[in-house]
Amino acid sequence: MKLLEGKTTIITGGSRGIGKGIAQIFAQQGANVAFTYSSSVEAAKELENELAGYGVKAKGYQSNAADFEQSQELAKEIHKEFGSIDVLINNAGITKDNLLMRISEEDFDKVIEVNLKSVFNMTKAVQRIMLKQRQGSIINMSSVVGVKGNAGQTNYAASKAGILGFTKSVALEIGSRNIRCNAIAPGFIETEMTAKLDQQVVEGWRNAIPLKRGGTPADVANACLFLASDLSTYVTGQVINVDGGMLT
Ligand code: NAP
Repeated sequence: MKLLEGKTTIITGGSRGIGKGIAQIFAQQGANVAFTYSSSVEAAKELENELAGYGVKAKGYQSNAADFEQSQELAKEIHKEFGSIDVLINNAGITKDNLLMRISEEDFDKVIEVNLKSVFNMTKAVQRIMLKQRQGSIINMSSVVGVKGNAGQTNYAASKAGILGFTKSVALEIGSRNIRCNAIAPGFIETEMTAKLDQQVVEGWRNAIPLKRGGTPADVANACLFLASDLSTYVTGQVINVDGGMLT
């Protein structure tokens, strides 16, 4: 039996990395997948075709998650085209790292808008639809950095910690309508976001992780699969660390 048969899932930032990994595993589990991206038009087309190969409905949308109006329009369009919105995964995210001493106001605001405001935008955009359905699962991509902090990432850490407060508040507000809201805090997952980093630093990180390796998009996607499916019908307001034991 497929765990997500017929469930419509929106994944923001699905064109690469963790979001792509989630899209692939969800399609394999029978979910119809609507994913967004910022500029990767070609990659999005390829992924659409790949997902359709699993026999599900799949479509990529170029939409800026940081934009309130675009998020409203997107949710409306997906609802019309797919007929329901059962799962929302707020995954889109960026980094603009710098020490507090050097960080610009623009880079602080940009990271908060793309990483945190986007979660508000999309959650608000699907809320009414999920309330009417009297069911839904919202999954927000935080980070180990949001739980613990990190030098050189004040903007990113603030955005990811903000997601945790938002997640728990939404869980309290709409739990009575059978809508669940949880967060995932990935540790070091090897994607394009982390490929930019110095390789020696990366090797040091791998060695410091109890499981002695970086995570894969599939590691994170499988935690999403649990939270999106009926395996987790009594789980809400939680943060699941997917970090190889990093915070232990
Ligand atoms: P990634 O490889 O850089 O991919 C980012 C995705 O977000 C891309 O699909 C990108 O689209 C999309 N995106 C960026 N800005 C957007 C916007 N304004 N609106 C819509 N989509 C946008 O990142 P990743 O490593 O997979 O990370 C995914 C999420 O996990 C992020 O929230 C990140 O903070 C979090 N996370 C990652 C790690 C890690 O180690 N990698 C650890 C903890 C948490 P384009 O392809 O069009 O640019």
